[in-house]
Amino acid sequence: MLADSYGRIATDLRVSLTDRCNLRCTYCMPPEGLQWLPKPDVLSGDEVGRLVRIGVQLLGIREVRFTGGEPLLRRDLVSIIAATAGLSPRPEISVTTNGIGLARLAAPLREAGLDRINVSLDTLRPEVFRKLALRDRLPDVLEGLAAAAAAGLSPVKVNTVLMRDVNDVEAVALLRYCLERGYELRFIEQMPLDAQHGWKRAEMVTADEIFRLLAAEFSLAPDAGRSRGAAPAETFLVNGGPARVGVIASVTRPFCGACDRVRLTADGQIRNCLFAHSESDLRAALRGGASDEEIAARWRAAVAVKLPGHGINDPTFLQPDRPMSAIGG
Ligand code: SAM
Repeated sequence: MLADSYGRIATDLRVSLTDRCNLRCTYCMPPEGLQWLPKPDVLSGDEVGRLVRIGVQLLGIREVRFTGGEPLLRRDLVSIIAATAGLSPRPEISVTTNGIGLARLAAPLREAGLDRINVSLDTLRPEVFRKLALRDRLPDVLEGLAAAAAAGLSPVKVNTVLMRDVNDVEAVALLRYCLERGYELRFIEQMPLDAQHGWKRAEMVTADEIFRLLAAEFSLAPDAGRSRGAAPAETFLVNGGPARVGVIASVTRPFCGACDRVRLTADGQIRNCLFAHSESDLRAALRGGASDEEIAARWRAAVAVKLPGHGINDPTFLQPDRPMSAIGG
């Protein structure tokens, strides 16, 4: 098991498949992009497969989410999903994507064994999409969402980061759009994980503000029927249900005490928290000929020293060196 000294057990593995992205969301990356990882540093599909197998068979991982960067940029994504689906015990498999390319890939991914998908969508207005993501790709994202639902990926979840004076006025419209199509929307508070270090607490749209914006149009009731467990989103029934909306209030209502996540970066480093300042190098062990058991021991040691909280609200908080896109969101 992947246990830490505060009694938490990590069972949910987030795997970043690449640090590259085809969007430039302003809260994530600078317009010119970043210094991408050199190709030889990035784990091959087989290396990802071996580490995921060790996680599942030796360390109690039950859920695997592939992310990035943009995971759909990996040409071998379908075969990585198929290899993961072939594991015994079979983990739950999900992908977090910006949706570009999903129109073509949703059905093959589903066939390969993908169970669930989260698609990021911050706006329904093409001109705001251009301003926020610096690319003109809104139609691709909306087509990707529709293809995911048509392929039987259920529930289709939508992730939205609200930015003040950019897309905060769209909270109601985004929820209505999702309700009409059966997608489950989750608002994510903006976190200090952007490469530019431009996050300002006073400027972020908080969970309380999100509730106020939504309450103008919908009634929201705590979702008593669904236990939150280790899920980052607090969910609410919309207009009596069964439709739901979620809010991930990582900054104003941290949920570190229930965290069950561990992260593997595209270059094979284990991070026990998004905000960790240290990593454990599994790629060196893997390429140096370590056995499965030796890799598992290194992985256990990395999780054992997980801190009790992310510390965003401490006066001494320091943003980690790697931005969200290079860790895997
Ligand atoms: N490219 C994929 C996507 O767009 O979903 C996966 C990676 S992206 C880093 C994962 C999620 O992190 C997206 O929903 C994105 O909006 C969110 N994200 C990126 N930077 C963030 C930040 N500073 N605070 C909160 N969420 C952020």
